[in-house]
Amino acid sequence: CGIVAVTGYKKALPLLINGLEKLEYRGYDSAGIAIINSETNFISCNKAKGKLKNLISNLNDHNIPGTVGIGHTRWATHGKPEVKNAHPHTDSSGNIAVVQNGIIENFQDLKNKLEEEGIIFNSDTDTEVIPHLIQRELNTLNKLNLENNGSTLLVAVRNVISDLEGSYALAVLWSGAPTSLVVARRQAPLIIGLGEGEFICASDTPAIANFTNIILPMEDEEIALLTPLGIEIYDSSNERQYRNPISLKVSE
Ligand code: GLU
Repeated sequence: CGIVAVTGYKKALPLLINGLEKLEYRGYDSAGIAIINSETNFISCNKAKGKLKNLISNLNDHNIPGTVGIGHTRWATHGKPEVKNAHPHTDSSGNIAVVQNGIIENFQDLKNKLEEEGIIFNSDTDTEVIPHLIQRELNTLNKLNLENNGSTLLVAVRNVISDLEGSYALAVLWSGAPTSLVVARRQAPLIIGLGEGEFICASDTPAIANFTNIILPMEDEEIALLTPLGIEIYDSSNERQYRNPISLKVSE
């Protein structure tokens, strides 16, 4: 029901929690975050059923170091509100984490194929196919000797979303490109905020307004690569898109 994603030079955990708090008004049944741990380069993932305060109290003992992360508040469409169904969802290796809003209409077909290939699913959601498909795509790209970097992740996510039916906004982390974030949308909102030392991407402006009032709206069917150094946006024909940031009108 709400997405927040961040990359930059500031600690991700407080930015993600603050952003999720601002999305609370949208309603949800569970919440979770994933951060690329800067000490290990592995993804640290935490989820909780119920209100955000449950997630926050889970996280109290965890001071996850890292500046790149994704967060989610879920309104269940496929799979009960349970911890295993809360986002982020990961691939089997735990190297890829995904949050998604919306519905993947053809997830059952995709899931059947992945299960035939031996993939074991940990949730009942439509979303979990996405990290597994990205992992499979990255394996294929790896055979082409592409480097582990954000551009490779962008290609992998682009190839995967071309097979998805339905509506979605999503954000993807990969430990192979630990400063990169890939986000994409189709018939679900996503906005990029240009902060001071971070880019923060969210489903709605309240999650961004605390950090910046300079935003880059994403158009339908666009995909973007965010790193601390900049943003690349592409349309569905893979044409690079350029647009000027706009200023958010703060009405409080
Ligand atoms: N369809 C996804 C799920 O049920 C996402 C729901 C949402 O937008 O929160 O897990």
